[in-house]
Amino acid sequence: MDEHHDVLIVGAGFSGLGAAVRLRQAGRHDFVVLERADDVGGTWRDNDYPGAACDVPSHLYSLSFAPNPRWSRSFSPQPEIQQYLQGLVTRYDLAPHLRLGHELVEARWDEAAARWHVRTGRGSFTGRVLVIGTGPLSAPKLPAIDGLADFAGTTFHSARWRHDHDLAGRRVAVIGTGASAIQFVPRIAEEVEHLTVFQRTPPWIIPRNDRPISALEHWLYEHLPPTRLAARAGIYTARETLAVGMTLRPRLLDAVAAMARGHLQRQVADPALRERLLPDYRIGCKRILLSNDFYPALARDNVELVTEGIERIEPHAVRTADGVDHPVDTIVFGTGFEATRPPVADAVTGRDGARLADAWADGMTAYRGTTVAGFPNLFLLIGPNTGLGHNSMIYIIESQLNYLMTALSKMDEHGIVAVEVDAGAQHAYNEGLQRRLDGTVWNTGGCASWYLDANGRNTTLWPSFTWRFRQLTRRFDPRGYHLRTAQEVTSACPPQTPVP
Ligand SMILES: Cc1cc2nc3c(=O)[nH]c(=O)nc-3n(C[C@H](O)[C@H](O)[C@H](O)COP(=O)(O)OP(=O)(O)OC[C@H]3O[C@@H](n4cnc5c(N)ncnc54)[C@H](O)[C@@H]3O)c2cc1C
Repeated sequence: MDEHHDVLIVGAGFSGLGAAVRLRQAGRHDFVVLERADDVGGTWRDNDYPGAACDVPSHLYSLSFAPNPRWSRSFSPQPEIQQYLQGLVTRYDLAPHLRLGHELVEARWDEAAARWHVRTGRGSFTGRVLVIGTGPLSAPKLPAIDGLADFAGTTFHSARWRHDHDLAGRRVAVIGTGASAIQFVPRIAEEVEHLTVFQRTPPWIIPRNDRPISALEHWLYEHLPPTRLAARAGIYTARETLAVGMTLRPRLLDAVAAMARGHLQRQVADPALRERLLPDYRIGCKRILLSNDFYPALARDNVELVTEGIERIEPHAVRTADGVDHPVDTIVFGTGFEATRPPVADAVTGRDGARLADAWADGMTAYRGTTVAGFPNLFLLIGPNTGLGHNSMIYIIESQLNYLMTALSKMDEHGIVAVEVDAGAQHAYNEGLQRRLDGTVWNTGGCASWYLDANGRNTTLWPSFTWRFRQLTRRFDPRGYHLRTAQEVTSACPPQTPVP
């Protein structure tokens, strides 16, 4: 017999746990969290590579409804964030709701019964509402490089760090110079015999203003919560100003580029190396990275930066396009994630038997980043076009949780068994989004980034201020939705013409 719950949440990262906390706080206890791994934490469980830390200050990069006044640093390290997420389980009594080791294999909407049937590797479930919190950056992406399968050494992705593989004394290749690589390269550079860093596109890097949070601040944040809220608001506002440059006036980012150039100038003495590290696209087009130790690591004697393209992998070397073999015994991939083709989309089948992956064959789309036509009672957390280049993803998750919670209330109040966004409303919403994206730095900045899908369409980022997303998701608005009551009366409300 399938286990039935009102709400089925998939994923136990910030999104899934956040949803669970909100449900508990609202007195809703009939839900489970299906998580494929054996622990909660998501991103912060998996990315335990040396040097892993958040790059949005912790007082903002945490749940507002589950505050932590005792963050140790402005940018807390991975173990502390993971502990915070694990702590939510006891703090909000989530253990009875957790189904760890339960990977969602299939989710199928049953139109007649108006419920989801979910199959996991360890049992089946039914639920009225399905919440997908499987993460935009939870499926590591490996590049297709000729010869990789025949490599004689050890390879792994930074999100699957091989802690059992001691790097001391090894010749290591790091492929990629993105947000993760710039955090672990300085750490491993100290222990390896030789490190070759393969860079396709240099990132823009600005100083990382990290510092320990003082005992006085801890005391204030704990005993005078408005001080913590003020700190949070300050970080939010400072971050949000970047949205002006990123989404409206990319030229305004020139000041940030000047800061980044100065940082490079100060940290790298060798002009030839500096030149290879200076990006040729507009700052902000790819994620702006924060680091004080990446450039100095590249200047070490045992570290080499290679900017020539990789041609193939030989059993004991990485061969570049200039025919040079770079001998290595370990390859670490810092090559990012399947952000525009999330694997979960293959597992979810909607009203007409179509898979979410089919609906997204030409690129991911959703209404307000959360609901998808053809998929009733499905709520995506960090769905299409909700990502940020400048601010905390937790703010977005919390906005979507407001939408989810008010949708559940609306369904209960009016005896609605199924809500489904109108395809026209979703289309109009996305047309508006894409128009706004046209002028943003991500679309015009002259770079190739993971924000864009295979068609060159930006299906990942939110093209405006985050508070506008908050407004848009403040409460579930049934206009633009088809609502079905228990009496099977189908009513199509006139679609709204939403402006993102
Ligand atoms: C290294 C790194 C650093 C980051 N730093 C920041 C930062 O500083 N600031 C910021 O705003 N954002 C940051 N991010 C983005 C980050 O992904 C989000 O902030 C946030 O953690 C996403 O939470 P989530 O719960 O949506 O997804 P995740 O944390 O990815 O959790 C998804 C969960 O779903 C589970 N899952 C996936 N598929 C299935 C399935 N089929 N069945 C069952 N379970 C499944 C996974 O195992 C995982 O536990 C970072 C990302 C990475 C990778």
